[in-house]
Amino acid sequence: ESSDATKLKNLYNEAAKLFHHILVNTVMGEDAMQYLLKRGLTAEMITEFNLGFAPDKQLLLPFLQEKKADQDLLHRSGLFIETTEGKLRERFRNRIIFPIRDAQERTVAFSGRLLEKNSNLPKYLNSPETAIFNKRKLLFNFDKAKGEIRQKKFAILFEGFMDVLAAYRSGIKNGVASMGTSLTNEQVYLLERATQKLYICYDGDVPGQTATARALSLLDPVTKMTLGVIRMPEALDPDEYVQKYGTDAFKEIAQNTHETALAFYLHYYEQGRNLDNEDDQLAYLADVLKQLAQVISPVEQDIYLNQLAKRFGLEKSSLLSQLNEFIRKTG
Ligand code: ATP
Ligand code: MN
Ligand code: MN
Ligand code: MN
Repeated sequence: ESSDATKLKNLYNEAAKLFHHILVNTVMGEDAMQYLLKRGLTAEMITEFNLGFAPDKQLLLPFLQEKKADQDLLHRSGLFIETTEGKLRERFRNRIIFPIRDAQERTVAFSGRLLEKNSNLPKYLNSPETAIFNKRKLLFNFDKAKGEIRQKKFAILFEGFMDVLAAYRSGIKNGVASMGTSLTNEQVYLLERATQKLYICYDGDVPGQTATARALSLLDPVTKMTLGVIRMPEALDPDEYVQKYGTDAFKEIAQNTHETALAFYLHYYEQGRNLDNEDDQLAYLADVLKQLAQVISPVEQDIYLNQLAKRFGLEKSSLLSQLNEFIRKTG
């Protein structure tokens, strides 16, 4: 590792310490602390994840300058924004700070969440890419989760930081999140080295379910991992689920209620359709059979064909011939 990278990581480490101190020990951090406690985090977890608060004040710059940080390094750190006069200004202001660590447990970036709703600003703000932060290669919480992933023999992929934390306090510690983007090949590779199984637990709302379908279709051709889905009911995200039903209930579904990708699609294609309506029913069956055409195992195909025939009162043979048609088309 270059000494420059080491210096940058040290800088992030110092910044993380300051933000954590502000959150935990100062009046400036009180509102943020109340906010996090209200959302169900504990003081222990705030320490464990080294969460922090960046107030709307120029504190980080003088703090790092006092530690004799190199001015050029500060410019390249991504911690500041350069004003038109060439001055440095804090990038993260009035935001709760989630440190993002690499697999070696070194802080290499931050994500900051606004305390209050403010439609003019993005809810989450990430560090820009730097010499030490390539967001394609990082998964939030992989550093802490990797041991647990190996032991439990599966990983859970969430949408957001708060979902990973809600799972964690439910005792589900093999959760990670990609940072507001769809999963990259590099992230898949990271997971594959630790496990053979990946369960997707995205938000239960329409965007979350659409993202699940997309993740499955992107992942399936490129990964050796078995894919599954943990589906959240009532359009809840995992964090909201824990708020509403408690940690035990979440632990139960996260451990015991995995669906196969196909079972997920059976629900997914029902969205926005009325299956009592014949046109909708046909469109639904076409979508489902197209997915089924991708399944290699004839036994698995047979199971779902039986289910569909029974559910819609159809001849299995007609479903089978349409399935074979789709198989022929997709080669
Ligand atoms: P919260 O519970 O704190 O409101 P969330 O995780 O439920 O947040 P979502 O809107 O579901 O937020 O978004 C999922 C994830 O996408 C976030 O955790 C964050 O990583 C990312 N994200 C959301 N909004 C933005 C944004 N404006 N810019 C960049 N990333 C974002
Ligand atoms: Mn979402
Ligand atoms: Mn969400
Ligand atoms: Mn949420």
